[in-house]
Amino acid sequence: MKRIGVLALQGAVREHVKSIGACGAEAVLVKWPADLDGLDALILPGGESTTMRRLIDRYGLMEPLREFAKTGKPMFGTCAGLILLAKEVVGYDEPHLGVMDVVVERNSFGRQVDSFEADLTVQGLDAPFNAVFIRAPHIVSAGSSAEVLCEHDGRIVMARSGPFLGCSFHPELTDDHRITEYFIGMIPSTNEALLPN
Ligand code: GLN
Repeated sequence: MKRIGVLALQGAVREHVKSIGACGAEAVLVKWPADLDGLDALILPGGESTTMRRLIDRYGLMEPLREFAKTGKPMFGTCAGLILLAKEVVGYDEPHLGVMDVVVERNSFGRQVDSFEADLTVQGLDAPFNAVFIRAPHIVSAGSSAEVLCEHDGRIVMARSGPFLGCSFHPELTDDHRITEYFIGMIPSTNEALLPN
């Protein structure tokens, strides 16, 4: 069974755990560096990126997370998690993990519409996805290695770059598990992982 970690410092942890279980994989809560051992992939949930960053530093997780990213194992950031992954955050001198080839901007969708839902067309999914946005960021630009998977109102809200998947919205807050399934499908099969470069 695939083992998918969920960074469990703050935010929508339980919801991701539920979604992983619904996809037939095992969810592992990650609080300490040793919890990353033996995972096939890792999800960084939504919540509040500044708070999560503070906790990442407090739990000594920054370097271990960057090392995990170097292994090529898939990482999925939803909302605040996307902000943590991005190589650049508009208005900030330094990124957080800085591993995914996208530039993001926080709280992009205006105060009066802090939270909303929209039925979106997502590349690779057969039918629209009901996306929940909560004080959501958007992807200002995606690098040449990135593939745009979804846009809303002319803004990029989901992209993939190599082993990194990020979205502005919260797929884990609905009972539609297709995006979690898509992410789990990014885990290379053992045969692929053994192929020489
Ligand atoms: N606005 C939050 C941040 O900047 C993200 C919101 C969310 O994850 N729902 O961290």
